[in-house]
Amino acid sequence: MFNYKALFSGFICLFALAPFLHSQDLRPALLQTIVEKEEPAWEMAQKIWQFAEPGYLEKQSASLLASSLEKEGFKIDRGIANIPTAFTASFGSGKPVIAILGEYDALPELSQEAVPFRKPREIGNGYGHACGHHLFGVASANAALAIGELIKLGKIKGTIRFYGCPAEEGGAAKAFMVRDGLFNDVDVALHWHPGSRNSAGDSSCLARIAVKFRFHGQAAHAAGSPEKGRSALDGLLLAMHAVELLREHTPEGTRLHHTITSGGGAANVVPEFAEGFFYVRHPKAEVVAKLWPRLLKCAQGAALATETRLEVVPLGGTMQILPNDTLANVTRKNLTSLNDLEYSKEETAFALRIRETFPDKAPPLESLKEVLDQAGKVTMGSTDVGDVSWVVPTTGFNVATWVPGTPGHSWQAVACGGTTIGKKGMMLASKVLAVTALDLFQSPELVKKARAELNKKLEGAKFEPLLEKSQKPPLDFRLPSKRNVTE
Ligand SMILES: [Zn+2]
Repeated sequence: MFNYKALFSGFICLFALAPFLHSQDLRPALLQTIVEKEEPAWEMAQKIWQFAEPGYLEKQSASLLASSLEKEGFKIDRGIANIPTAFTASFGSGKPVIAILGEYDALPELSQEAVPFRKPREIGNGYGHACGHHLFGVASANAALAIGELIKLGKIKGTIRFYGCPAEEGGAAKAFMVRDGLFNDVDVALHWHPGSRNSAGDSSCLARIAVKFRFHGQAAHAAGSPEKGRSALDGLLLAMHAVELLREHTPEGTRLHHTITSGGGAANVVPEFAEGFFYVRHPKAEVVAKLWPRLLKCAQGAALATETRLEVVPLGGTMQILPNDTLANVTRKNLTSLNDLEYSKEETAFALRIRETFPDKAPPLESLKEVLDQAGKVTMGSTDVGDVSWVVPTTGFNVATWVPGTPGHSWQAVACGGTTIGKKGMMLASKVLAVTALDLFQSPELVKKARAELNKKLEGAKFEPLLEKSQKPPLDFRLPSKRNVTE
């Protein structure tokens, strides 16, 4: 016979325990763990700042992060999505699976010492962490470690997974990781980004396609026999001019950029090889998809006119971010309540010197106390987090790791990121990520609600990635261009 009495007393037990489980405040212990890891975390961030490795070539940075997690019992999967410097580090088992994204690639031409005036480092490869990804990777890994400890102690149940994501700057690694199904079992993905202000509330961003156009011509003496030459540089310059003319006839919000990565070596030689790096961006992926063939025509037309051969090297496309208000409200609350940013005397002196180098008036240093609301906005940049946000409910926030007013991708950002100003922002980000993850582990309803919001958004919008189906990760896109590629 069915034992109603036992069932009843079981319910009593559960009901008695539920409020205790729910109210069990694990935050102080979690935050304490993060604070205890502050010095090793900062040491690691400084090393990655010094490595300043290019996208897809972040061997030392990725291995440092992975081994720090492995040492604490995380299970590491290296070389995922056919990318040697991509990895995941998981701890725990079962649901929910909460992902924390981390990045670690640097930018070219922005080598800089941690001083408030322009001074490139004498050693190194010319790269610098001008987007603060050394802080990004470490803060995220540190948060994952702290959550891992709570799982180890049996205080929470589920899986925490750190995603080591290379080549955010133009390499679109996360888009390949999404395509390979690496986020299929994830319930929520969290990320953050270094910045010059604190902000939360998900903003969207620009979808983009990146490509390199290589022109192959015929070398000849530029004075003695120019008629025998066909200039690859002419091909590239004409393509750029065509793109400049295209600019006027594109939808509002379009961004087109280009730079020359190779343009010949001597004025008296007709260049036989030239290469340009092009971006096309817009707040909507479908508009980018329509602009892409028009961009291609600019290059094809230029090759035709200059009798050079065009080689197209696609570098990948990324989607705009699909904001998730359910999750963004949680991060906003956590960032606001945990924000303790304040500069010491030395940091203030450094900040005032850095501010003198800005062309425009910068926000006051007291703006560190504020958390701006970004909800509903579109930031004029792109990130491969966009692709993640189409398959997993995703949210992010920004923390002031740079002096207020510092532009991203600047030497000033590299300088700040190498000082304790960057360290303080990194620690705050780590705390906000960990506490938000804890909220998700403790509230299955929140996870469900976030997924329901994403599902609703996907009713009117299909996920059509901007990556070409057969495209491989462009692992060599930061290497000097290859001239002898045959089509
Ligand atoms: Zn970045």
